Amino acid sequence: MPHKEENIEEQIIKRMADLLRQGLTLTELACPACASPLFRLKSGELWCVKCEKKVIVVKDEEEIAKIKSAAALENLENTLLAKIQEVQNKMQQETSVEELQKLGATLSELLESLEKIRKTRRV
Ligand SMILES: [Zn+2]
Repeated sequence: MPHKEENIEEQIIKRMADLLRQGLTLTELACPACASPLFRLKSGELWCVKCEKKVIVVKDEEEIAKIKSAAALENLENTLLAKIQEVQNKMQQETSVEELQKLGATLSELLESLEKIRKTRRV
């Protein structure tokens, strides 16, 4: 399957969007294992969406983690922008009202995630 990698990326974005909607905070720290941006759980612990596990970032590593995360967030932002473009293209060709509603919902989810990521990057 040539699109396998893209699907994994899509799944991660979907999971991230879910967490953002649940009110979890996207941090400026990156996972030491995979360099994905980490989420702060309500318990205060850090969570990696990609590794699907709790991550501990020690103080010394915090600066490195921040640098890594800036790149990861930029990647994520670019991926989201590409997805938004893709959905917009689909919407232009779609004639079914039902499909358009679905695409519209996806689009607003993507835009919401993008906005939150941009806010995180600016901090
Ligand atoms: Zn990870």
